[in-house]
Amino acid sequence: MRFASTRGQAPEVGIDDALAAGLAPDGGLYVPVAIPQAGMDHAGGTLAETATALLAPYFAGSRLQSQLPAMCRAALDFPVPLQPLNHPGDYLLELFHGPTAAFKDIGARFLAEALSRLRAPDAPDTTILVATSGDTGAAVGAAFHRREGFQVVILYPDGRVSPRQAHGLGCFGDNVQALRVDGTFDDCQRLVKQALTDSALRETLTLGSANSISLGRLLPQMAYYAHAALQFRAEQGTSLNFIIPTGNLGNALAAWLARSMGLPIGEIVLASNANDALPRYFAGADYLPQAGKATIANAMDVGAPSNFERLRWWHADDASVRAAMTACSVDDDGIRQAIKAAQARHGVVPCPHTAVGLHALADSRARGDERPWAVVATAHPAKFETVVEPLVGHDVVPPPALADALARPAAATPLGLDYADLRDWLLEPIATA
Ligand SMILES: *Cc1c(COP(=O)(O)O)cnc(C)c1O
Repeated sequence: MRFASTRGQAPEVGIDDALAAGLAPDGGLYVPVAIPQAGMDHAGGTLAETATALLAPYFAGSRLQSQLPAMCRAALDFPVPLQPLNHPGDYLLELFHGPTAAFKDIGARFLAEALSRLRAPDAPDTTILVATSGDTGAAVGAAFHRREGFQVVILYPDGRVSPRQAHGLGCFGDNVQALRVDGTFDDCQRLVKQALTDSALRETLTLGSANSISLGRLLPQMAYYAHAALQFRAEQGTSLNFIIPTGNLGNALAAWLARSMGLPIGEIVLASNANDALPRYFAGADYLPQAGKATIANAMDVGAPSNFERLRWWHADDASVRAAMTACSVDDDGIRQAIKAAQARHGVVPCPHTAVGLHALADSRARGDERPWAVVATAHPAKFETVVEPLVGHDVVPPPALADALARPAAATPLGLDYADLRDWLLEPIATA
């Protein structure tokens, strides 16, 4: 399989080069030039087996081709259950049972398996730069922590992640450093993009990216959609529709890609917080990237979703993009209501992001929609206890992996918005603990 840049000014590459580069040299995002058909029509098998089958066509001709089953087994070794809620047709697809309690673990762990297997043993260290609105950084940090040949630098918006998220970003040490940036997630993303396209910097440092722009994260995320949809069709005989809490559009794009490969996925709804560039676009307005607004679903505080560029590339025009999915937006009050309603109606406590999706589901049910819907549960509520606990009136107990991270000391270095400061910091020899 060949991969092209969305901006059309860079040569096509194979997956190994696309994974190593992250961003294409023209600043675009890599996309497979064709979408293969999965030819998977039966359920059964593990998540890792589903992932292997789905990813195989993308890794045809790769140095990793024969290692793909082992990579999927190593990366996707925790459950992703489709939990029925107590209203018929309502489900949660729980993606928060990994080491950092958010769905980002799936892509980050697969990417780490891929990059460490692609690395030549005598190569200089790769510095992975990652901008995070909260969860990606921890997932990437955990996936690369103490991996030979890698340094990880995490940039997060200071004061805009939950206290437990901040702790989880700064708690690694060793080869993983956290920078708390005096700005928004979009600022962090811009700084990372600037570094990745700084050819002078790249003469000195081998850089890699781990944002959702990386195919190594995007592609494996198809696996849980495929797995749940195949299981659902085997049991219920129909396609499963998905409501996906959306920020940078990586998770939802994976669902769209899985559906395009022929998996029995019905409608895709993007559920946004008050950052509504996508809902406005899907309602017919021009796509207008905005500055990120702070909300209580902070991992989705993205005003300029990077993966929109991929979605647009695969479609002939805006009308066909708009036919592919729909989008809605809910503000913080709506999120708070949805958290309380989930507890009252379903007896579950969602994280604020998952609550954005549950709000969208409640709206569809109120309109009389009786189709089966799975809301993607993107993080564990204990990561956002300062939002969730006052609303539900009791403590939310962290899962064991999160409790371990919280028990370790944490530290982060402050960083301003001037790119030169990041460049200078990167060029200083990274202190290893
Ligand atoms: C990253 C994240 C999202 C948004 O996912 P995208 O792929 O950026 O659209 C939603 N919820 C949680 C908890 C996240 O960490």
